[in-house]
Amino acid sequence: MNTIVMKFGGTSVAGTEKLKNIANIVKNHLSNNKIIVVLSAMAGETNKLQSYLDEFRSQNSIESDLVLTSGEQVTIGLLSAALKNLGVKSIPLLGWQVPLITDENYENAKILKIDKKRIEDYLIDNDVIVLAGFQGINLNGKITSLGRGGSDTTAVAIASAIEAERCDIYTDVEGVFTTDPNIEKNAKKISKLSYEEMLEMASTGAKVLHTRSVELAMKNNLTLQVLSSLTKKTGTFIVNEKQLIEKEIVSGVSYSRSEAKVTISGILDKPGISAKIFGLMSENNINVDMIVQNISQDGVSANITFTINQKDHDLTKLVIENSQNILSYKSLLLDKNVAKVSVIGMGMMSQAGVAEKMFKTLAKNSINILAISTSEIKISVLIDEKHANIAVKSLHEVYNL
Ligand code: ASP
Ligand code: MG
Repeated sequence: MNTIVMKFGGTSVAGTEKLKNIANIVKNHLSNNKIIVVLSAMAGETNKLQSYLDEFRSQNSIESDLVLTSGEQVTIGLLSAALKNLGVKSIPLLGWQVPLITDENYENAKILKIDKKRIEDYLIDNDVIVLAGFQGINLNGKITSLGRGGSDTTAVAIASAIEAERCDIYTDVEGVFTTDPNIEKNAKKISKLSYEEMLEMASTGAKVLHTRSVELAMKNNLTLQVLSSLTKKTGTFIVNEKQLIEKEIVSGVSYSRSEAKVTISGILDKPGISAKIFGLMSENNINVDMIVQNISQDGVSANITFTINQKDHDLTKLVIENSQNILSYKSLLLDKNVAKVSVIGMGMMSQAGVAEKMFKTLAKNSINILAISTSEIKISVLIDEKHANIAVKSLHEVYNL
């Protein structure tokens, strides 16, 4: 007998009517399978819990994870009840009841171990396990959470542990689109994507899957499907690169408005200065993304520009200002009105001219490029935020998406 894993996100479980709908979807998949259902909390619940915690902010990590993971307890209990009402043998399980063992890292814990045998035992007497996503227990017996959005990772981890053929992630969109349909109404659902493309899309702004879940699926060669809980349509499959018959040169255009640009001007152009700046950033846990350095005309001083997440804006400003004596720069400028637009595609590896087309298209629309970064399968540009929509639309068109 096969076991399949179905994960439902916050918008799919927000309210009793939706949970009843899911109970029916699950029941309909039961014919020849056992099922493990992984659930998020109802949409907005975890944010609400987080806002309560914000009033008690200090290093209360044990309490944070205990509170943050409570939304999932509600949804799994209700879904399991709904399944029983339909005559399905179901058992609701919290992370610690599996147990799903994690490390000590509260609010961003990594999964260390899932007991496959215990899951199989639960499935002897039950046809469905309804498992709380996003949570686990550490070796000290404390409840942990996997980081916001982490129930995707729970689903992938459990599917990998039981060697499921596939893991289906149900959400409120029909799959992964060539770009955000809210910006470009001609955006299309992508039928197949490689793990690498999905990872690049997730890290450049597409908010479909928890990045760690894709990394884990890639490591275990587990096929994912992102699909809607509201329609019966096939979704987007995320697969091993070898399963892609045709490698698209560009599969999608993503964007993010959550960046901030930092420019430090008039720093000394000598060895060790960049190491100092980025050393400061990493000491303070500030993630740096794009970096551009240029030498000023006098040949003595240089300017450095880099991007950070907007949430680190104030901390970055403080850290650099406090190090004025070490860095002895002339001026510091931070700007939140920037956006990062990226084009992503596996075919880029073997095809020239993708960057040229991108830069030409932006130039034609009088959009100035502030910074560039690339990987083998991605080109990102930083631009003024006010041009983000037009950049996305025109790139979507020029690559025939
Ligand atoms: N409920 C958690 C969150 O909102 C986990 C999840 O939904 O994936 O972050
Ligand atoms: Mg999610």
